[in-house]
Amino acid sequence: MTQVLIAGGGPVGLAAAVELGRRGIDCVVVEPRTEVSHARPRCKTVNVRTMEHLRRWGVADRLRARAPLSPAYSSDVVFCTSLTGRELARFTGVLGLTPQGDRFPEVGQQAPQFVLEELLREMVDELDTTTLVLGRRVVDVVQDDDGVTVTVVGPDGVAEQITADHVIGCDGPRSRVRECLGADYVGEHALRPNFGMVFRAPGLAERVRHGPAVQYWTVNPGAPALLGPLDEVGTWWIIAFGVDRETGEREGAAILDAAVGEAVGATVLSTDPWTARMQLVDTARVGRVFLAGDAAHLNPPFGGHGMNTGFGDAVDLGWKLAAVLQGWGGPALLDSYEAERRPVQDRVIRAAAENMRTLSIDLLDDDLDRDTPAGDTARRSARERIEATKDAEFHALDLVLDLDLAGSPVVAAGTGRRLPHRWLPDGRSLYDVLGDGFTLLTPPGADVTALTDACASQGVPLTVAEVLEDRADPVLVRPDHHVAWSGSHLPDDVSALVGRVTGRPPS
Ligand SMILES: Cc1cc2nc3c(=O)[nH]c(=O)nc-3n(C[C@H](O)[C@H](O)[C@H](O)COP(=O)(O)OP(=O)(O)OC[C@H]3O[C@@H](n4cnc5c(N)ncnc54)[C@H](O)[C@@H]3O)c2cc1C
Repeated sequence: MTQVLIAGGGPVGLAAAVELGRRGIDCVVVEPRTEVSHARPRCKTVNVRTMEHLRRWGVADRLRARAPLSPAYSSDVVFCTSLTGRELARFTGVLGLTPQGDRFPEVGQQAPQFVLEELLREMVDELDTTTLVLGRRVVDVVQDDDGVTVTVVGPDGVAEQITADHVIGCDGPRSRVRECLGADYVGEHALRPNFGMVFRAPGLAERVRHGPAVQYWTVNPGAPALLGPLDEVGTWWIIAFGVDRETGEREGAAILDAAVGEAVGATVLSTDPWTARMQLVDTARVGRVFLAGDAAHLNPPFGGHGMNTGFGDAVDLGWKLAAVLQGWGGPALLDSYEAERRPVQDRVIRAAAENMRTLSIDLLDDDLDRDTPAGDTARRSARERIEATKDAEFHALDLVLDLDLAGSPVVAAGTGRRLPHRWLPDGRSLYDVLGDGFTLLTPPGADVTALTDACASQGVPLTVAEVLEDRADPVLVRPDHHVAWSGSHLPDDVSALVGRVTGRPPS
């Protein structure tokens, strides 16, 4: 018996376990993979918003310390005919890798997905409340009014049953939990194949003509591709566009030579064929069972949003489930999970699909590498097209940070946005003064007794922080940094406000 069973210990399942476990909720994560594989690094962009959550958990520096590329390595994306060929276009300050004054407290971090997963596994191990059950998979989920019974099978085929108050299906694209719920993805599947590889090429960084960058988009017929360093000691990743598994396995070395623009003698360490999908599940909740991460939504990887969006799901659901299980959150809080996350997921899918409309393979032109007037014209027109179509992919902080839950049933009218970040006069981040529960930000000496009393009487954890300037309006902030209420004076019925933001209908 556990309070929450999480199917799948990928980044999203582990993040959900950490969010719940830190709040004292007992959870079990069931994950078939005993080891975190380094073969498919997939996510490289841990975005600013995910870094804000890692900071909230006190581990942002732990991720940075083990990430093989520091943010100082580069914040450029280069389009070129090859790594040793001509530069076509360059974007700087990409992917939130450079500070922007008050806008956020943590820059993004380039880190292979396995680095983040290993950190999250460690965190789950460190929490007394969370248990990671490795080498087992969820095969069945049945619920009734009292709870959920989950059947789990080990490598020996022996089945055991675990009961839980709630289940979160974080078991990825082929989610068994989703099947058990009878839920389905709705959306499209791209037709073009892509072939991923991780390869070793020591000394390659020194041969690159364009200097350090986190991504190089190569535009040549032998390798319309996207590649970048995984570390500073010669390990690289590449996605070859339009290449199927068979061709990739056969011609991997030739593709790498074409991307570099000369023979590189690279060693292919692993391969990863994939196709893009733009899909959102028709329902992400049935009763006591929820879906999060790739089990609920899939988007093309361009812009680096899939894992980060799933991380946002885990945080949103994590604090709400904890509130309900601790008795201070009501049913509307759980209803709000889909209401709040679906618009975010949908927006991400649409943005990522737009990013996919122009890839290196769409920019090919026979003249691009020619030292002729036709070559100059081809390069100019490629640059114009790249600048017109790709900027939004690399400078997407509006998508990442300007998360607005205005339509949510559990925020007061006119609020719901992510609390605008700023640095306090004493150098602290505004986010660092927020408590684990709700936080009321006020000017010095404001009388907010009615709200503190209402929270106390309803058992709602509240921190009061007198950090706003004189005469500023108080702001009530949720555990996930979103503004639940703000106004020049407290409403007459403060209990109703507290009821609304904690999902309890008025009594
Ligand atoms: C080429 C590429 C690049 C990408 N780059 C980025 C990026 O830069 N930024 C970004 O944010 N995202 C990126 N993504 C997307 C990212 O990899 C996924 O969104 C992310 O892995 C989703 O995490 P998840 O935990 O939801 O699912 P998964 O990572 O798929 O984890 C699901 C887990 O469930 C387990 N599981 C499966 N079946 C069961 C079962 N029956 N019972 C229990 N457990 C089960 C699996 O073993 C797995 O560990 C990229 C994807 C690709 C393909």
